[in-house]
Amino acid sequence: MCIIESKQYMCKNLNQSIELDNDLFYNHCPICQSNKIKKIGELDYYSRENLTYANFYIKLKRIPELWECIDCKSWFAQNIIKESDSISLYTKGEFIKRNSNEDMSIYKFENRKPPDIKKILSENLPQKSKVLDIGCDTGDLLDFLKKNGHTTFGLEYSKASRNILQKKGHIAYSNFAEINEKFDVITAFDLIEHIYNFQLFLDNCSNLLNSNGILVFFTGNIDSKSSKKQKTKWWYFSFAEHIIFPSKQAYETNDLKVIKYNKVRLDNELKITVRSLIRKIIRLFSLSYDGWPFNSDHHIIVLKKNT
Ligand SMILES: [Zn+2]
Repeated sequence: MCIIESKQYMCKNLNQSIELDNDLFYNHCPICQSNKIKKIGELDYYSRENLTYANFYIKLKRIPELWECIDCKSWFAQNIIKESDSISLYTKGEFIKRNSNEDMSIYKFENRKPPDIKKILSENLPQKSKVLDIGCDTGDLLDFLKKNGHTTFGLEYSKASRNILQKKGHIAYSNFAEINEKFDVITAFDLIEHIYNFQLFLDNCSNLLNSNGILVFFTGNIDSKSSKKQKTKWWYFSFAEHIIFPSKQAYETNDLKVIKYNKVRLDNELKITVRSLIRKIIRLFSLSYDGWPFNSDHHIIVLKKNT
């Protein structure tokens, strides 16, 4: 039995941490398969007391490492948890555990993401598109797209999130094999960094696109100032769930062409300024400064299907 099966649905305290043997180690680049790879350094989230995965507390047996591929210039993590354990955690995970008194409007896609992203979506999505959002959580992006006249579908491992999606009128899938539709647009926000088989993921997306369909991805930018300067200390590498960081060239395939590759900030501009300033001051005092808060350390990538 999978080690996770014996645990309760939610770990309420640190005593209930799930112990995982993070023994997945590649002898090649998991993105382009090249064997020209080298270690950058160890990732120090290993020793963190309150380490989480999805919304479970976990303990890892081995020290994870950050590596780079000489050929495709992508970065990736080594000593990661097995894909089967990862899927099990995501499936049982409940991403939204929010206080009912909280102002829920701050979680709306249009309030959370910076204007650049909404602009790119409105410029690149044809009117009344059929859109699939992969790793859609409870459908913040789908709600935004539905309001703008698009037909919305979501792919999400978490059963709890799928129930919410269905209540909100989105079609919900739990995996690629269930899908019998073709789409004009496929989006994946904050997802690429969690993918185990990147090439298979791109193939699956490409196969589900109508001709001239587009993919829109939003993920961390390893070419950003923060990433280059801080390497293993960059905040984006401090999550056990973040395992691959593809370069721009890694996205180009026979079927897909990069038509847009823009640097963007993670959050809404105003909010990131205030929040980041506070974080920056705290980190400066604690000597654990780990990011340039005003730096655009994410990017949005638009790919077009060639045929
Ligand atoms: Zn590579």
